Amino acid sequence: MAKTVSCVACSSYEMSEVKRSVRQALDLLGGPGSFVRPDMTVFVKPNLLAGVDPARSVTTHPEVVAAVARLLTGYGCRVVIGDSPGAGTRYTPASLKRIYRRCGIAPHGEIPGVILNDDISHTTIPSPDGQVVKRFLIIRPAVEADLIVSISKPKTHLLTTYTGAVKNLFGLVPGHEKSLFHSRFPDAEGFSRMLVDLTLAVPPVLHVMDAVWGMEGNGPMSGEPRYVGRILASWDPFALDLVACRAIGIPEDLVPVLSIARDRRLLTDDPLVPGDGFDPLENGPFLLPDTIRPAGLRMKITRKLLAHLQKSGRVFIPRPAVVSSACIRCGACVEICPVEAISLADGSAAIDRSLCIRCYCCHESCEAAAIAIARGLFPGITRRQRQ
Ligand code: SF4
Ligand code: SF4
Repeated sequence: MAKTVSCVACSSYEMSEVKRSVRQALDLLGGPGSFVRPDMTVFVKPNLLAGVDPARSVTTHPEVVAAVARLLTGYGCRVVIGDSPGAGTRYTPASLKRIYRRCGIAPHGEIPGVILNDDISHTTIPSPDGQVVKRFLIIRPAVEADLIVSISKPKTHLLTTYTGAVKNLFGLVPGHEKSLFHSRFPDAEGFSRMLVDLTLAVPPVLHVMDAVWGMEGNGPMSGEPRYVGRILASWDPFALDLVACRAIGIPEDLVPVLSIARDRRLLTDDPLVPGDGFDPLENGPFLLPDTIRPAGLRMKITRKLLAHLQKSGRVFIPRPAVVSSACIRCGACVEICPVEAISLADGSAAIDRSLCIRCYCCHESCEAAAIAIARGLFPGITRRQRQ
């Protein structure tokens, strides 16, 4: 049966417009009254990758989070806002507080019926349909809630090409447990298989996407904001990501999560998309990351070729490189690296290339934008260029 992905225009982060668009997107799925009841606890999970200004489009915009939270409290729900940030951020109450403040979420704790999560405990859930992972550690407040509402952001991603609804669920995995998955699944294909298993293991999640602004280029941390002007919603994260990728011009065959979902028959018919649809993007499709973008040889790097390159020879694929002059020696990259390939040398961080598995977690972790992506042996393949 075709899945439904509602798509509503939202031209800015002005509160009244965001509230109206979120409301309309959920009404197109049957309305909040069809899936919430008074006294339910709802865990609202934005993308809080790092503590950075919302204008950079790294994180879910605080007005979208507030609109969802107010809508739910209006139905008598108790709302807990939380995430396990990525990017080398320690999963502690103190660092969560810092992230909430920097991401513009802190004032939401003043909304009656809303609390900001500071519970860092976790629990284990089974993954009976998992093909590569049979159990996951998940942050406890999300598991104990009656409903999870994920609010993702459409962005390009150095490892997985694109991050949206499915990838946002990785923030339910606590702290540095994430690094273990990067170490265990260093290539995009394996990592995406794990993400699909995770998506099937977590309790039902309502997915909202803040696609007012997304990110292109070297996302998810250091790309450029791009205007899209939409709020999306769906109960199906694969269908939502498919619709979002089409809207921003990212080819489906470059997104392993979507290919794997098709292989596993989790994506069959084309989704129904009620609402305002999409206008063609001004300035063309989203710019792909340097790790993915075909150029130079004009060759089409398909998902399979990329996976092959990642498995067969690390020298061929782009690698992280520290920009010494920008490094502030914060140590976040050292903390996040799953294979301990980074050390704090005199002056700046230093990467041992022989150990690096090209997971790009360090690039994602660096709030100072001091980690660049250097080209592999075939620089033409990844030269910065629009398709
Ligand atoms: S490269 Fe420097 S500034 Fe960036 S995360 Fe590492 S230590 Fe911090
Ligand atoms: S140095 Fe290599 S292995 Fe370590 S976090 Fe960066 S990309 Fe991943």
